[in-house]
Amino acid sequence: MSSVLIAGGGIGGIATALAVARSGHHVVVLEREPRFTELGAGIQLGPNAFRALDRLGVADAVRAGAVFVDGLNLMDGVTGAGIARLPLTGEFRERYGQPYAVVHRVDLYTALLDACREHDTIELRTDSRVERYAHVGDEVVVDLAGGATVRGDALVGADGLRSAVRAQLLDDGEPVLSGHTIYRSVIPIESLPADLRWHSVTLWAAPLRHVVHYPIAGGRSLNLAATVDDRAVDVVVGRPADRDLVLDTFASLAAVPRRFLEHGRDWRSWVLCDRDPVRRWTDGRVVLLGDAAHPMLQYAAQGACAALEDAVCLGELLAPAEPDFARAFERFTDLRAERTAWVQRLSRALGRDVYHVAGAVAERRNAALATRTDANLLELVDHLYLEPAASTR
Ligand SMILES: Cc1cc2nc3c(=O)[nH]c(=O)nc-3n(C[C@H](O)[C@H](O)[C@H](O)COP(=O)(O)OP(=O)(O)OC[C@H]3O[C@@H](n4cnc5c(N)ncnc54)[C@H](O)[C@@H]3O)c2cc1C
Repeated sequence: MSSVLIAGGGIGGIATALAVARSGHHVVVLEREPRFTELGAGIQLGPNAFRALDRLGVADAVRAGAVFVDGLNLMDGVTGAGIARLPLTGEFRERYGQPYAVVHRVDLYTALLDACREHDTIELRTDSRVERYAHVGDEVVVDLAGGATVRGDALVGADGLRSAVRAQLLDDGEPVLSGHTIYRSVIPIESLPADLRWHSVTLWAAPLRHVVHYPIAGGRSLNLAATVDDRAVDVVVGRPADRDLVLDTFASLAAVPRRFLEHGRDWRSWVLCDRDPVRRWTDGRVVLLGDAAHPMLQYAAQGACAALEDAVCLGELLAPAEPDFARAFERFTDLRAERTAWVQRLSRALGRDVYHVAGAVAERRNAALATRTDANLLELVDHLYLEPAASTR
């Protein structure tokens, strides 16, 4: 049995642990934090994510806490008018064979983690910050902070946006700061008046800013995210933000989105980062995956979905009892890099060219989308949702 080391126990790392263990290997997940946990609020999962979760055997557990929203609404945040609506029931379900849902991150993470804990071949180690790796003979030797070393047949760098494995493998510097600040809040649904309890994912687009909200946690909470292109130049991760600052920043929005924001509490802010796509994710028996390989802005709501697709794809490539890791990792890159690069670029373009535009450009956007039928709208999202989770063919 081969032994695969995974740096990072986020959604990508533990999904990969599960996929690789199901292919018959011993897995050691090295997580720098003292606990395996996922912070943050809601997450949208497209049909491609549910296809991957099915392959990992955890889709039912994730579905249990999910909210199956009935549509994706794009609204004009200045006038308050609807621009387009993609229904997520009926034809959508039939076309993709899977639902679109919103879940609490913890619910998704717990489903994956519980499944990992049921495998005796998965070791979950905390307080294990990966610093460096080296190829020694047919092994990869990983140095942890504090001086310990861990050996395995291969290493997967699933250590996120500021990946130590990537820093060594590519040496391509810091992530790209988008200059966009996001403010996030989760509120109990009962704190909202009945007319604001919308059962959809709704995005209010306005010049240089947008607001997204959707129900999570079985419909008991509302996830609020308000993003502004404020040319932010500093790294900010989960900093508490003043309610008045949030309300002032979005004061130009129409009455309804402002009403949603007025209910926000305990706001926290992040400055969003991504990277330009790269084609090189491997170094012999070492490979990058998830945000470590292809970090993207969240505007297509696909970062975690892509990490789940990665996990399934890698698990399938490692199905042989004694895989040629270097070749499997090259093949993994061939299969995954083009699609994820497309989503990275799409995510940037959605912010720049669709959500944050103003004046005549916004009017053209509204007019172009208003003429689209449901079928036309589905064609727009086909490439996101139709891709098989593990296209190893
Ligand atoms: C505001 C926001 C909203 C989003 N919304 C969506 C959405 O709706 N849908 C969607 O699909 N995606 C969404 N995403 C993207 C999604 O959250 C990420 O793409 C996904 O979580 C990436 O998972 P990962 O496991 O690759 O990385 P991470 O989640 O960053 O996990 C990396 C793990 O590695 C650990 N680690 C880091 N360095 C080391 C080290 N040196 N040694 C050991 N461990 C280490 C970290 O502690 C962490 O546990 C959103 C992102 C943001 C910021």
